[in-house]
Amino acid sequence: MAHRIVTLPGDGIGPEILAPALEVLRVLGDFEFEEHPFGGAAIDLYGAALTDETLAACRAADAVLLAAVGGPKWDTTDPHAPRPEQGLLGLRKGLGLYANLRPVKPLPALYDASPLRRERIEGTDLLVVRELTGGIYFGEKTRTRDFASDVCAYTREEIERIARVAFNAARAKVTSVDKANVLETSRLWREVVTEVHSREYPHIQLEHVLVDNAAMQLVSAPRHFDTILTENMFGDILSDEAAMITGSIGMLPSASLSAPREPAGSAGFPPEGGRGGGGCGGLFEPVHGSAPDITGRGIANPLAMFLSAALMLRHGLGLESEAAAVESAVERALERGLRTPDLGGEAGTVEATRAVLEHL
Ligand code: NAD
Repeated sequence: MAHRIVTLPGDGIGPEILAPALEVLRVLGDFEFEEHPFGGAAIDLYGAALTDETLAACRAADAVLLAAVGGPKWDTTDPHAPRPEQGLLGLRKGLGLYANLRPVKPLPALYDASPLRRERIEGTDLLVVRELTGGIYFGEKTRTRDFASDVCAYTREEIERIARVAFNAARAKVTSVDKANVLETSRLWREVVTEVHSREYPHIQLEHVLVDNAAMQLVSAPRHFDTILTENMFGDILSDEAAMITGSIGMLPSASLSAPREPAGSAGFPPEGGRGGGGCGGLFEPVHGSAPDITGRGIANPLAMFLSAALMLRHGLGLESEAAAVESAVERALERGLRTPDLGGEAGTVEATRAVLEHL
């Protein structure tokens, strides 16, 4: 039976990179794609970034493949205006996607494309496990003309379940990142992670690092990390920083899962399977945004989108060999010299897609 995938092209370069990803998937198997407007595109059509119909379709699908949302057209400081990012938050909450996994493993072919020196990044193979449905992004917000606040809140249960995802995914070490010297939520975070560790995962090494120090170590000694466990906002920021280890933000995929199964694979590869409590097999999307500065120019790098499709094949649909085929086609295309402008080359989206298809 065909796998049913909901596709959300979104805005900006989103449609430009999603269409080639479907070409790649069509080579590999029988998929039924159902496209829905999302983000700014949905605001233009329906006045909301995520409609009930789209959420219901995502819940019923085997997996959801999302490109990117947002853009200057919908940028506003009016707190009452709909925003494309509300679609992302609504989808994460609506599908119960509390675990965001972002593998960061620079490919040897791209060692020299990173702004960091080759000897610094060589051999990096880390996984960022970001809590995705709690913290400051979801806390109560207030706003008057001269005052604004965002509440950061976490429960013990939210911390326990994401900690387990990280301990299961780790090869040998979990680095829990917080700001326990200042934030109360971080002190609870540290306490709960320590408890889960000593009770259930004493064989894994655990270290606690303050977020400012972690940001520094990510660029000074990225090989130090195996699995980074952190809360929503810190994970958002640190994983963009980590993207530069791979050469470009246009290279980094992510998986958002509702109930990852045990036991783990290695860091760099998230744990098996995403199907569980939340219904669909997960949401898969590149880490980057809608890149309005290059939209419509045919130069968007589609590789993070392809690698997100690979994560979908592996963790959303259980198609390991198809996932590996996409990853190795991307790697071989890069070895043969494929470089989009963000990687210092001249290949456009169409050329990059052709190069990957040739190796598939
Ligand atoms: P961005 O990731 O869109 O772009 C940052 C820089 O990276 C830009 O110079 C862009 O051209 C480049 N870039 C990103 N993806 C690329 C790709 N595939 N190929 C080549 N270059 C690429 O971040 P931004 O500029 O801060 O945000 C733009 C919009 O995207 C905003 O509206 C923001 O809210 C939204 N956004 C959406 C998501 C998402 O959909 N998950 C994530 C981040 C930002």
